[in-house]
Amino acid sequence: MKMFGTNGIRGVVNGYMSSELALKVGKSIAKVLGPGSIAIAKDTRTSADMITCAVESGLLAMGVDVVDLGMVPTPALQYYVKTHDDVVAGVMITASHNPPEFNGIKCVSADGTECSHEEETAIEDAYESEIVCPGWDGVGSVRRVSDAGEAYIDAVVRNVDADAIRKAGIKAVLDCSNGAASNTTPLLMKKLGVKVVTLNASPDGRFPGHYSEPTEDNLGDLKRMTAETGSDLGFAHDGDADRCVFVTGSGRYVPGDQSLAILGRSAVQKNGGGIVVTTVATSCVVEEAVKSVGGTVEYTAVGSPVVARRMISNGALFGGEENGGLIFADHQYCRDGAMSIAKMIEAVVLRGSLDEQVDSLPKFVTIKAAVGCPDNLKGATIKEIAHRHEGERINLTDGLRIDYDDGWVLMRPSGTEPKFRVYSESKDKAVAEGRSKRFLEEAGAVISSLQ
Ligand code: MG
Repeated sequence: MKMFGTNGIRGVVNGYMSSELALKVGKSIAKVLGPGSIAIAKDTRTSADMITCAVESGLLAMGVDVVDLGMVPTPALQYYVKTHDDVVAGVMITASHNPPEFNGIKCVSADGTECSHEEETAIEDAYESEIVCPGWDGVGSVRRVSDAGEAYIDAVVRNVDADAIRKAGIKAVLDCSNGAASNTTPLLMKKLGVKVVTLNASPDGRFPGHYSEPTEDNLGDLKRMTAETGSDLGFAHDGDADRCVFVTGSGRYVPGDQSLAILGRSAVQKNGGGIVVTTVATSCVVEEAVKSVGGTVEYTAVGSPVVARRMISNGALFGGEENGGLIFADHQYCRDGAMSIAKMIEAVVLRGSLDEQVDSLPKFVTIKAAVGCPDNLKGATIKEIAHRHEGERINLTDGLRIDYDDGWVLMRPSGTEPKFRVYSESKDKAVAEGRSKRFLEEAGAVISSLQ
């Protein structure tokens, strides 16, 4: 049975995500990722204690010792796992940006990266099997650690020019989305000497401020407050603070691919060259910005674990996805919201205001659409369209992408729904729209012919 989606196991609490499921998942994780100590942490959801206790009980029953970090961001758990040799894995209880009735279980490998697909499959197989627990004298114990959040923030501070930031007298607005960064990112602001106004910084799993996905629609207060308080920039986390999005001093929302471009360009400038990794679904704004300062871009399939693992193998400086999940090789190989904020503040201090930096980027138009396709026809559809476009610049890294001199199109099979997501990008709006329309028509005709 497939339990893991793109970001762990998720479900509605006391529906699919029951205490019984969490208990057995805990045992399965212990069987696959143990023996040894396993760290666990949670975000602010109302069901955090219920799911944490059940997973912990499963781990303990299997003889694993648990290090309980309490409520901290996902990247703080990942940093703890990476920096403690006696800890062999991590478990994060979070449903990230999902509505409040959801919760989830996400697994972390010994090096602090998100578990690979193979490890997740092994946990699913263990869940389906009969699990034998040790005797009464073989069960584990719990140790509670209260300073994992601060140790993580100290590491973030060490990875930027903190003196330059303190001297610059930056003003900012921070929206914690009532999530897991409600304690740690205000602490980061204090340590960097940033004068900060906070929004939604009380931990509250009902998410009274706004839903925990930091879309532009959810960030009206942040945009207004940033402009009205004369701040240099504003930023917002998602629920578990592995991601972050930005607004400029004038209150403009910065789309995730533009943050990627600005921070990729900044990393390459600071290093005097280097590689940036992103996915085939990311705007060419990243490649143009990175190339303009002498860097190179490599593309992977969609998914932050894929990006992180490519960065490890090719020695890239920086990578990420256009949803605000950004990975910094000098810190750790996972999406990191607090590190993203510190690096963006550093970029503003060293290279000029965020408004100016956004304005300096090349402008692209990306049309996002979808076409329905039964799951069993997705492979054949891609094969047929690739065949029809033989001789063109075809890339099959994730779905089908075709590059042109003035843009690209991508059709990616949705992992959760019977459809393809279709992207078309160009600097010329008419080109992007025309190509999107033609591609949708062609895909629709091919899918019909296969049915
Ligand atoms: Mg998240």
